Amino acid sequence: MDNWLAGRTIRRRFFRLRLGAGLVLLAVASAGTFAAWSVATSRTSDYLQRQAAETLAVQSEVLNGVLEKYRLIPPLLARQDEVARLFASLASDAYRQTIARALAEEITGLSGARDVAFFSADGALLAAARDIFGDEPAGRAELLKAARENRLGRTTALIRGKNRVYAFGAGVRRDGQLRGVVAVYVGFDAVERTWALSANPIFVSDNTGTIFLSNRVDWLLKPVSEIEAKSGAARGNASGYIDVVRDLPLMGWQLHVLGDRSRIVAAQTTVVGFSLLIFLLVGVIAFFMIGRIEDRILLRRRERAQALRLERAVRDRTKELSLANRSLSHEIEERIEAERELKRVQHELIQAAKLAGVGQMAAALSHEINQPLAAIETYAANTKKALALGRQEIAEGNLDRIAAMVARISELSGTLLSFSRKPATSLQPVSVQAALQEALILIRPKADRAGVAITVDPALDGVMVEAGRIRLSQVFVNLFGNAIDALEGRADGRVAVELKSADGRVCLHVRDNGPGIAPELAGEVFEPFFTTRDGQGSGLGLSIVYNIMQDFGGSVALLPNEAGAVFELRLKAAQAE
Ligand code: ADP
Repeated sequence: MDNWLAGRTIRRRFFRLRLGAGLVLLAVASAGTFAAWSVATSRTSDYLQRQAAETLAVQSEVLNGVLEKYRLIPPLLARQDEVARLFASLASDAYRQTIARALAEEITGLSGARDVAFFSADGALLAAARDIFGDEPAGRAELLKAARENRLGRTTALIRGKNRVYAFGAGVRRDGQLRGVVAVYVGFDAVERTWALSANPIFVSDNTGTIFLSNRVDWLLKPVSEIEAKSGAARGNASGYIDVVRDLPLMGWQLHVLGDRSRIVAAQTTVVGFSLLIFLLVGVIAFFMIGRIEDRILLRRRERAQALRLERAVRDRTKELSLANRSLSHEIEERIEAERELKRVQHELIQAAKLAGVGQMAAALSHEINQPLAAIETYAANTKKALALGRQEIAEGNLDRIAAMVARISELSGTLLSFSRKPATSLQPVSVQAALQEALILIRPKADRAGVAITVDPALDGVMVEAGRIRLSQVFVNLFGNAIDALEGRADGRVAVELKSADGRVCLHVRDNGPGIAPELAGEVFEPFFTTRDGQGSGLGLSIVYNIMQDFGGSVALLPNEAGAVFELRLKAAQAE
């Protein structure tokens, strides 16, 4: 939850950062783009101005050169006598015309002018080299006027309404009298051909504001104002053209060179496009990097949160574990205590059961002891009599018998005493045969009374096991006791102890030829207090056997599918001392 909240805060902060960065970038981009736009505009327009000015300078020189070439021809011709004679009235008109035409043709051919014409003082056309004029020779009035005022005539003229020419004229004077006028007409085909090569529009406007020469055929003879309006050539206009003008004062003309403003627009577009592209790129990179930083911070925070969660989980788990551990060790202590208690109770139980057995055996043993005692009594009385009669040898024989009987009694009572003692809990090498013999001393009276024969495998001599002597005797006493109980009333009751194997683990079978144990009871016979001998049995005999065998690290089991009952004992073998 905390983590999620923190994540949201970070995301909100980064959103604000992005917004801020976006706004700053927008401002910078706008300013940058505007600056780039201004620079591009001024540079390109400077360039265009310069280019146009260069073109203007060159073309005005070209124009001046062309006109200059012809300017002096009329005044020079006017000084020639040959020309003056053309206007003398002595000769016939036809003759003068012929001469004048020949002269005009010669001068036209030599100079490359468009035409050369001679006018009489009253303005009549005497002759012209090429018949370019109609009825009204172009610019005649202006040329006559200038001649009368004794100055060089110069004028633009249209021939037949469309062919533009420039005319220079000079008056032919003799004796202060105007005799005639010489006019030279200049065409502009060559100039316009040169201009046609230029990409920029070039034109000349005359003093009436009409376009007289141009490399744009469709602009010819139109007023400059109309063209300016149409193409936006006025200075400062964003579209259209930049107009660079130079006055040609001699002709009263203005030469215009127009720079194409669309190049400025193209430059502006390119620069603005590039600048926007760069800022867009910068923006994309900035946003990408901000995104990466945000991701990294979020990841680091997530990892930290995860580590903290893990740490907390580990801490909790450790606490739980140590609690569990403590309760477990407490439980273990309790168990150990309980086990110790159980062992103690078991031992008590074994002892109690044993004492109970001892009590039972006491009846049989008292018979066993009573008999020798009675015999001892009789032998003692007899001995007394024999001694009185001086029968030394009889007395000695009786005493020997008495001694043997006392030895038997003391053996019995000694065994009983040692059996009823509390057994040791440690294990040591024990001779199986010794334990068996001790058990037999105790059980034999009961077996004899029931008429049961107990046989022991002679192979058992010298077999040693890890055990306690008294407890092993008790195992045999209990097993023999059960067998004798089961064989009660049978004429051929037999119990046999057989050695099955003695390497590593000693395996013994205690077998009887009694009724055996029903298979369905086989699982229960080792349970404490299980008995089928109501009133007579305690149900502890086999349970004690089981526990003693466990203490020895051995086992006891009831073998199935046998005639009679067969108990198998397994014990650790021990080396004879
Ligand atoms: P108890 O002898 O006091 O009844 P045990 O624990 O010694 O108690 O024996 C439990 C039961 O196992 C006996 O009641 C008896 O039914 C059965 N049992 C033990 N040994 C033999 C045997 N050799 N043959 C037949 N039944 C036996």
